[in-house]
Amino acid sequence: MEYTQAGRTAAVVLAAGRGKRMKSSVQKQFLELCGRPLITYALQQFEESGVDQVVLVTGKEDLDYCREHIVKEFGFHKVTAVVAGGKERYHSVYEGLKALAGQGISHVLIHDGARPLLTGRIIRDALEGARTYSACVIAVPVKDTIKIADEHLFAAETPRRDRLWQIQTPQAFSYPLIMGAYEKLFSREEYQTGVTDDAMVVETMTEVPVRLIPGDYRNIKVTTPEDMILAEAFLRAFQQAEKA
Ligand code: C5P
Repeated sequence: MEYTQAGRTAAVVLAAGRGKRMKSSVQKQFLELCGRPLITYALQQFEESGVDQVVLVTGKEDLDYCREHIVKEFGFHKVTAVVAGGKERYHSVYEGLKALAGQGISHVLIHDGARPLLTGRIIRDALEGARTYSACVIAVPVKDTIKIADEHLFAAETPRRDRLWQIQTPQAFSYPLIMGAYEKLFSREEYQTGVTDDAMVVETMTEVPVRLIPGDYRNIKVTTPEDMILAEAFLRAFQQAEKA
């Protein structure tokens, strides 16, 4: 199968998670981070990037808030649609991908809105990776030793650390490839167990190998309260470096 090289590029930004691990009444993607909602940082990076258009996926109850107080207020002109996500992350991704159908998109970046430390360099590398390999993910080498535990919490296996990578987003793909993979995923319920990222969908639903592209340790996903402290520290360091 051949995938088009030319065409428009798009990003699907995910903000439909419930964020239960954050233990906050405000969903994590809308928490204030250095004075602005967390979700605006990733959207700002896409606004300033070579990506042509953006779909923001959020909870059904947050559609109006996002349209008025995120997209309009912050002037994100590249956001062409704000759509409702679903129960699991992969449901939300599929909604975002469907919103891009029929628009001549050749490549798409899928990004967790909960990763505010996204940079222009990462976006460029992900886009180039998608054009070269059709499927790629941003990743960093694992620093700690990782063990697989048995059900009684005894160490069962220790995979070789020099082959272990921590997977981040963006994950970037040829649009027809990822759309086809998701369509197959949704064709049968038994395909849909334990899907935690988009690369997995390509790995299991297609024959196309997924390339890992070196990312940045600062590109963290804000998941638990201590991640807010880390994200704030990294952001301040970025802002200071920009001023210097
Ligand atoms: O839950 P997890 O931390 O893996 O979420 C990663 C990203 O996916 C977050 O930006 C979250 O808002 C998004 N998500 C979503 N729809 C869901 C679950 C998660 O858009 N049902």
